[in-house]
Amino acid sequence: MQTDSLVTLDRNHLVHPVVNYRSHEQRGVTVLESGSGAYLRDSNGHELLDAFSGLWCVNTGYGHESIVRAAEEQMRRLPYATGYFHFGSEPAIKLAAKLVELSPASLQRVYFTMGGSDAVDSAIRFIVNYWNALGKSEKKHFITLERGYHGSSSQGAGLTALPVFHRNFDLPLPNQHRIPSPYPYRNPVGSDPAAIIDASVSALRDKVQELGADRVAAFFCEPVQGSGGVIVPPKGWLKAMQECCQALGILFVVDEVITGFGRTGPMFASEAEGVTPDLMTLAKGLTAGYAPMGAVMMSDAVYQGIAEGSGADVPVGHGHTYSAHPVSAAVALEVLRLYGEGGLLNNGIEQAPRFEEGLRSLLDHPLVGDARSRGLLGALELVADKEGKTRFDPALKLADRIFEAAYHNGIILRAFADNVLGFAPALCYTSTDFALLFERLERTLNAVL
Ligand code: PLP
Repeated sequence: MQTDSLVTLDRNHLVHPVVNYRSHEQRGVTVLESGSGAYLRDSNGHELLDAFSGLWCVNTGYGHESIVRAAEEQMRRLPYATGYFHFGSEPAIKLAAKLVELSPASLQRVYFTMGGSDAVDSAIRFIVNYWNALGKSEKKHFITLERGYHGSSSQGAGLTALPVFHRNFDLPLPNQHRIPSPYPYRNPVGSDPAAIIDASVSALRDKVQELGADRVAAFFCEPVQGSGGVIVPPKGWLKAMQECCQALGILFVVDEVITGFGRTGPMFASEAEGVTPDLMTLAKGLTAGYAPMGAVMMSDAVYQGIAEGSGADVPVGHGHTYSAHPVSAAVALEVLRLYGEGGLLNNGIEQAPRFEEGLRSLLDHPLVGDARSRGLLGALELVADKEGKTRFDPALKLADRIFEAAYHNGIILRAFADNVLGFAPALCYTSTDFALLFERLERTLNAVL
């Protein structure tokens, strides 16, 4: 079909996620047609270096034939198997066991979803059920970080602490609370790691005291805040938050939807920090975007609490038709093989210094106030004045202009509204890809000066 016809059909019928509907109608869609490695091609024949792995998910890169074969073989053998009525499928069972093997030792049980939002939503439901089962039914309050993102479900969007997800949606809910983000570039306590960690621990302790520990269910956090602007807390921050939760008697939930599967270097960011969460949410890199799938992992204590609390022969009333979908599970098993045996995790670790150097080299650019990264997750923060870290006037629409300039220069990046440019290159990036990325990026920044 002609691109023009697709643009018209899109404008008239397809509702896109997280866009301004009026500006989307005006701009029109860019139709992506094919991908190979780190590169995409659109319907105008324009080649683009994808520096964001789709939506921080295509960690393997595009066009892996072995993933396609895994999906095809599973579709032919058995395209669907319900998890209801005590049924299951081989890939889903193997995948659950594999995730338990790869993840922090505290996590023993896996519930599969279709993506990250329903993983977070499921985690909330399991937590509520767990505390009720233990007879602690006052524990209904949830604490998250400012600038945190935990998806777009009715409850998860309230845990998300980004204003656009609340505006006109009547969120957050009265039982959803926030503490400040551990944001080294803009932290009232300065950029000293120990001071940032202390401030977060004190803020969590104070918030729990204010609400009452017997009323707080859980603290949710991302090891690196993604959609809030790629905020990289100091090393040791995650561990300190876990210890604080443990001391306060509240559950510690790590949302590794972005940071999982090699994005920050190791398989999970929690692993590098020696953290043992009570629950962990996953999606994105689990299937590298080749099929939809997410997961909630939980400790045996949480699982056993729910199991005991449900009583004899009463089902735990939480389920999805597509939970543990066998095609997605077969895809995930092959993706996990590529991370390990396929060498992608190692390549990501090897290339990370090149990525970090490239970002840091742009600190000399007149627009760039901060460069930050962990593994292959990074950002540049653009400021009007480096000394005062002054943000650009939103009326300038700099983020939109940069996104368009990047597209014209052949890269896809994420331009957040407050002029943070987010990057999440695939783990298959080579040195040549990085050289091209930074050459095109500099050209892009110069184009909007
Ligand atoms: N949690 C985090 C940390 C995320 O970054 C996202 C998505 O970006 C989600 C949850 C929601 O995942 P999904 O978009 O697959 O529903």
